[in-house]
Amino acid sequence: MVDAGISYGGYFSEIVEKASREGYTIHYYGLGSYNDQECSFVRLASQKQPAIILSAGFHGDEVAGPLTFVEHFKEIADYALQKDVGLCIYPCVNPSGFDRRTRYNAANESPNNDFLRYLLANGNLTDDLGELNEFLAFYWSSDRDLQIKLPLETRLLHEDLKRLPLSKISGIVDLHQDTFRQDVGSYAYIFNRKEEYLAIAQRVDKIVPLLRNTRISSGYNIRVDSQGSILTGDSVSNRGLLSDDAGFIYRHDGTLQDILYRLGAQYAVTVETTGETDITKAMQVNLLWVKGVIDLVAKQK
Ligand SMILES: [Zn+2]
Repeated sequence: MVDAGISYGGYFSEIVEKASREGYTIHYYGLGSYNDQECSFVRLASQKQPAIILSAGFHGDEVAGPLTFVEHFKEIADYALQKDVGLCIYPCVNPSGFDRRTRYNAANESPNNDFLRYLLANGNLTDDLGELNEFLAFYWSSDRDLQIKLPLETRLLHEDLKRLPLSKISGIVDLHQDTFRQDVGSYAYIFNRKEEYLAIAQRVDKIVPLLRNTRISSGYNIRVDSQGSILTGDSVSNRGLLSDDAGFIYRHDGTLQDILYRLGAQYAVTVETTGETDITKAMQVNLLWVKGVIDLVAKQK
């Protein structure tokens, strides 16, 4: 297995090599620099026009997602090819966070996963509808009229997404880890289509137990210190959402999955395994979701 402590530089070389070997095109969509180091932002695209976006690494300390792509690239590429589904992969969207193993980027900027704003009936804008699904309109958070200052990672990703045929994207799987919980488990954020996802969740449950009917407060109102370490205790709110009987949470919170769902992607999933989960098993869970969504999109064609 790839060294879990790998630097972004090492990661980048490996993922580019593996993707090239499978005939994927390497698109560089930007360059960041920190600590006198430069890091390239990369998107990997299959020869076939993409129908699914796979992404990972929004939160730099959640390495199981990016490592899943290095560890299982051939398996994922072969599976998609066999099902005749094109992939577009953003393997590690927050390189400086990955390098430092911190949730946020090297500038400690938090909204790495900030994609849209909802206009509410009362005239306010919000990025999080919680469990509700009521709004008048939505906008990209990078919309100039909103004048929101976004981190480099997010800005570059917005620009790059707009180069893709977004109306042809049917699925998105974004890989995360919940580094707040002290137990072993898995859950997923979805918006709808629970019946279609149930078979995948059941497969996951055999590897890592589903966190069913569980209050999930992880990732809410996070604060970090100047080194990027997460402050816990009073600083973390108890607010949270309850997972359902299959470990699903429904939440429109302005993420990449959320905006793609608004733009028409039928299958939009955020996969979570806890940080206490063995990383090999976490990667197997990620793989089950990636393959499961490829199956769903292939079936729909
Ligand atoms: Zn995360």
